[in-house]
Amino acid sequence: MIRETFPVGLLGCNCTILGDETSREAIVIDPGADLPRILSLLNKHHLILRRIVVTHAHIDHIAGATDLKRIIGAPIFYSKADLPLVAMMDQQAAWLDVPVPLIAQPDHSPNDEEHIAVGGIEAQVLYTPGHTEGSLCLHLPSEKLLLAGDTLFAGSVGRTDLPGGNHPQLLASIQERLLTLPSETQVVPGHGPPTTIGKEREMNPFLLDE
Ligand SMILES: [Zn+2]
Repeated sequence: MIRETFPVGLLGCNCTILGDETSREAIVIDPGADLPRILSLLNKHHLILRRIVVTHAHIDHIAGATDLKRIIGAPIFYSKADLPLVAMMDQQAAWLDVPVPLIAQPDHSPNDEEHIAVGGIEAQVLYTPGHTEGSLCLHLPSEKLLLAGDTLFAGSVGRTDLPGGNHPQLLASIQERLLTLPSETQVVPGHGPPTTIGKEREMNPFLLDE
């Protein structure tokens, strides 16, 4: 599988492109900004974008999704539980002092444990509410890969002081849905460096003694 992960925008949201070498079909996760770079990487690998998946509706993760859809035509998947955050996009833009992006409704709000299959790419949606009500992760068991959004970071966990945040719920989501994955699972968080489930289970100070 082709994978490109790179920080986009003011807050360095990790955007990821997953591409299948045979079918050349691709998924983009969290196109928060920097569409020219996303488009040029899709071109570089000769990939056809089939799905746009947004882990949660914070502006730094979702702001480029609608423009990307308009340019390429791929449907946008994110949880309808995050629509209250979309409704306050003007306030989110004010926090960052950036223009208010136009954010489309999701073309599809995936269910928990729903499979998203594109070309040869097989991903499963894991709902992990807490950072936001609609936060989700994408798990690719065959790749031993987890795209964790802002739920779990290397040595840290998602903030819960913004609207829709709930700290006990976040910790329960991580314990029940993520730390139960195989230790060797590579984790690509929504910001910052990668990690593994095993490392976070053993060393993450926010998760010890829980
Ligand atoms: Zn966030």
